[in-house]
Amino acid sequence: MSKENWGYQPRPNRPAPDWDVHPQTDAVRGGLSRSGFGETAEALYLTSGFTYGSADEALESFTDETDHFLYSRFHNPTIATFEKRLAAIEGAEYCIATGSGMSAMFASIACLVSAGDRVVASAAMFSSCHVVLTEILPKWGVTVELVKGNDKAAWQAALSSPTKAVFIETPSNPLLEIVDIALVSDLAHKVGATVVVDNVMASPILQKPLELGADVVMYSATKHIDGQGRVLAGAVLGSFSYIHEHLTPFIRHTGPTLSPFNAWLLTKSLETMEMRVNRMVENAQAIAEFLESRKEIKSVRFPGLKSHPDYALAKKQMSGGGTTIGFEFKGSQKDAFKFMDALRIIDISNNLGDSKSLITHPASTTHRRLSPEVQAEMGIKPAVLRLSVGLEFVDDLIKDIDQALTS
Ligand SMILES: *Cc1c(COP(=O)(O)O)cnc(C)c1O
Repeated sequence: MSKENWGYQPRPNRPAPDWDVHPQTDAVRGGLSRSGFGETAEALYLTSGFTYGSADEALESFTDETDHFLYSRFHNPTIATFEKRLAAIEGAEYCIATGSGMSAMFASIACLVSAGDRVVASAAMFSSCHVVLTEILPKWGVTVELVKGNDKAAWQAALSSPTKAVFIETPSNPLLEIVDIALVSDLAHKVGATVVVDNVMASPILQKPLELGADVVMYSATKHIDGQGRVLAGAVLGSFSYIHEHLTPFIRHTGPTLSPFNAWLLTKSLETMEMRVNRMVENAQAIAEFLESRKEIKSVRFPGLKSHPDYALAKKQMSGGGTTIGFEFKGSQKDAFKFMDALRIIDISNNLGDSKSLITHPASTTHRRLSPEVQAEMGIKPAVLRLSVGLEFVDDLIKDIDQALTS
């Protein structure tokens, strides 16, 4: 990251490291901008506005001649710390934080398109993203085409005509379908499209879409970035030109702003994200293997299992199998519900990426909004469950699943 983002105040003369630090060091120190008190932790600037020393200073600030903060809908020092820190971890030039994952997703595409433009997306995705692409944008004259995410020929056909933006979610929620980011980015760039990756399921730790050729990454920071079930938040990361020409004007004037308090919580969460996510991945791998060995389970979907249809691709573009497992029961929705109700540690909830292990029945909750046909296309059957694996001791989680399966 750029050295100007290394806050060493109030010791301005201390030189920044003259080597490239590891992202984990950035996760603890990136974006830090200490006030005159020299506090250890990041300061919390819970303010909506800012004052000026003179009318002239206000004028100059508004004409962009100084980097004075203006208004927290535009920018705020605490939000800036979070944005700089996440950008450093991601390896992105710039980051804009938003109030939720959905506002990040919507803004990332809406800032690019006009009536008459075309968007291509992988079909398996989070249901609100599906609603944005198939109901909201078409209302404004944007054409959207959905493609089976792991079908190379379908991508080649869809990306043979001019396209403004490509949106891919990989792995997908809830059935962990993998899209080849490098392949799709290559095809997309030939027809002038900007590639946006919903990297929520992989988290900033397991997958680096920008290194694989994508242009923009978006997050629901509600998931692994907070990872402790406290706040809603989102983020969009990309090049200086994408952010400044397209995203910033859209966000500033439509106002999906993150609160400074939530930004402060998230900044602290980034310090431990790598340890949390890697432990969750270890736990998830062990649980996926356990589920695969059980006769009550018809099939298990986890990118870290050799049985995953795109295991090789997942291994190539992700540094771990992820923290979420999709699995289908032998039997009906009733059997799946009975299993959920018998769990003693794992909670029934629709969130994911949390330190607490959470189980979801997508067909009746998170993906309920989708028609039965679209659910079937995505493989969301009545006996399919999604398990988000948390940070509890793994043997306790396996015991919990075991007792619920046998009860
Ligand atoms: C949760 C989620 C979102 C939306 O994020 P919110 O913070 O709930 O608005 C978008 N994409 C994926 C893949 C998600 O899991």
